[in-house]
Amino acid sequence: MRSATTIIIGAGQSGLAMSRHLTALSIDHVVLERGEVAHSWRTERWDSLRLLTPNWQSRLPGYAYTGDDPDGFMTMPEVAAFLQRYAELSTVPVVTGTRVTQVRQDGGGYELSTSRGAWRCRKLVIASGACNVATIPSLSAGLPPKVTSLTPLQYRRPDLLPDGGVMIVGASASGMQLAREIQATGRRVVLCVGEHVRMPRTYRGRDIQWWMDVTGMMAVRYDAVEDIGRARRLPSLQLVGTPERVTVDLNSLRKSGVELVGRLVGLRDGKAQLSGSLANLCALADLKMKRLLAGIDGWVSASGLAERFPAPERYEPTAVGPETKLSLDLIAAGIGTVIWATGYRPDYSWLDVPVFDRKGRIRHDGGVVPAPGLYVMGLPFMRRRKSSFLDGAGDDAADLAAHLNQGLARAAA
Ligand SMILES: Cc1cc2nc3c(=O)[nH]c(=O)nc-3n(C[C@H](O)[C@H](O)[C@H](O)COP(=O)(O)OP(=O)(O)OC[C@H]3O[C@@H](n4cnc5c(N)ncnc54)[C@H](O)[C@@H]3O)c2cc1C
Repeated sequence: MRSATTIIIGAGQSGLAMSRHLTALSIDHVVLERGEVAHSWRTERWDSLRLLTPNWQSRLPGYAYTGDDPDGFMTMPEVAAFLQRYAELSTVPVVTGTRVTQVRQDGGGYELSTSRGAWRCRKLVIASGACNVATIPSLSAGLPPKVTSLTPLQYRRPDLLPDGGVMIVGASASGMQLAREIQATGRRVVLCVGEHVRMPRTYRGRDIQWWMDVTGMMAVRYDAVEDIGRARRLPSLQLVGTPERVTVDLNSLRKSGVELVGRLVGLRDGKAQLSGSLANLCALADLKMKRLLAGIDGWVSASGLAERFPAPERYEPTAVGPETKLSLDLIAAGIGTVIWATGYRPDYSWLDVPVFDRKGRIRHDGGVVPAPGLYVMGLPFMRRRKSSFLDGAGDDAADLAAHLNQGLARAAA
C-alpha cells in the first residue's frame, strides 16, 4: 500500500490550490484524480459554455490570467489549459486516471481504495467538486415516457437534442443560458421559473463581478452572515459570459421568444402543473437586485468615488405576460425534452466516514470536517461567498493548509 502524509482527492482548482499551499509548507502529499487535471471542466460542461466570471477574476495562489482580454470570458478548453498550466508551473504531484472508490478511517488516518490500488494518509482533503451530480426533483418520475429527460451535465448542444420543443426547469445561470441557446435555434422553449437572482452583466461601466469583488461582497466570511444555511442554498446568479458582455434576464429571454411559466410543482397524466407564483418571484428578484445595486451606489458615494463612474442605472421590472399558465400538456405542446437545470450536488458515495447530516450533506465548519485530519473544499459559501469559484480556492486553501499544518505540528510535538 502506498502512503503520503496528505492526500487530496481531485485536481480541479480547489485541489491544485491546496497542493500549492502544502508544497509551500513542505508537506508531503499527492493529488489523486479520476481523469486528468480539470476533468470536470473538460468533460461535464456544454460545448458553448464560457465562464461567467471575467478573465481577470481567474486568480489562484501565485498565478493569474495574463492574456490581452481581462474583461472577456474563457471557453472550457481555455479553462482546462489555464488549470493544466497552473498544475505544471506549481509542480503539483497529480496521479491521474485514479478514481477513489472508498475511504475508511484507519487508526489516526485514512485508507483509500482506488481504481489503481490502495493508499494510506494521515490527512485527507476532499476537493472532488460540488457539482458532480445534477439535482433532479422526485416529481420527474411523472414525466411521460415519450419525453427525454436531460441534465445540464448531459446536455452538449441544441442539434443533439431529440426533435421538438424543450422545457427547461430552473432559471438560474445554467437554465437561463440553455434557454437562450436553444431558443436561438428556433425551437419552442418553455422556462419554468422558481426563486432566482437577477443581475445585470455590467453596472455603472463595470462588470457586476468587479463591483462584488471591490465592495468586499465576494470575500464575506461564512461566520459573518446571519443565516449561512440559506446563503449556501441561494441559486446561482442569472449571468452569462459572452464576448459582447450581454445581460441575459427574463425580459430579454421573453423578448426573444422564450415562454416563461411558474415553478414546476407536479407532473401528472402528461401535464406539467405550474405554480402561480411567477409574478411574485420576479418582483422579489427585482427588489433584491435593486437593493444590491443601491448597496453598490452607497459604497461608491461613501468612498467619494462618484465622479469616477457613470450615474446609477435602474432596470425595467421583469414583465411576465398577461396570463399565468397553471398547466401545460407536454405532448400537445410538442415538448420532446425536459432539461433539469435545478442545481448540482457533490457525490460522496465513496466516503465511508460518519460525517453526514440527515440530508446527506457533509458536516463541516468552514471546510474543517468533524473527523481527525479531514477537510473539504469548493462547496458553496464554504468559508467565503467566493469559495466555490475559481477566485475563491486560493484563500480557502491557505486557511485550511495552515490548519492542517498545525495539526501535524501538534502531533509531532
Ligand atoms: C456549469 C457550471 C459553470 C460554472 N461557471 C463558473 C464560472 O464561470 N466561474 C467560476 O469561478 N466558477 C464556475 N463554476 C463553479 C466552479 O468553479 C466549478 O464547479 C469548478 O469545477 C469547481 O472546482 P473544484 O476544484 O472545487 O471541483 P472540480 O473542478 O469539480 O474538480 C474536482 C475534481 O475531482 C475529481 N474527482 C471527483 N471524484 C473523484 C474520485 N472519486 N476520485 C478521484 N477524483 C475525483 C474530478 O474528476 C475533478 O477533476 C461553474 C460550475 C458549473 C457546474
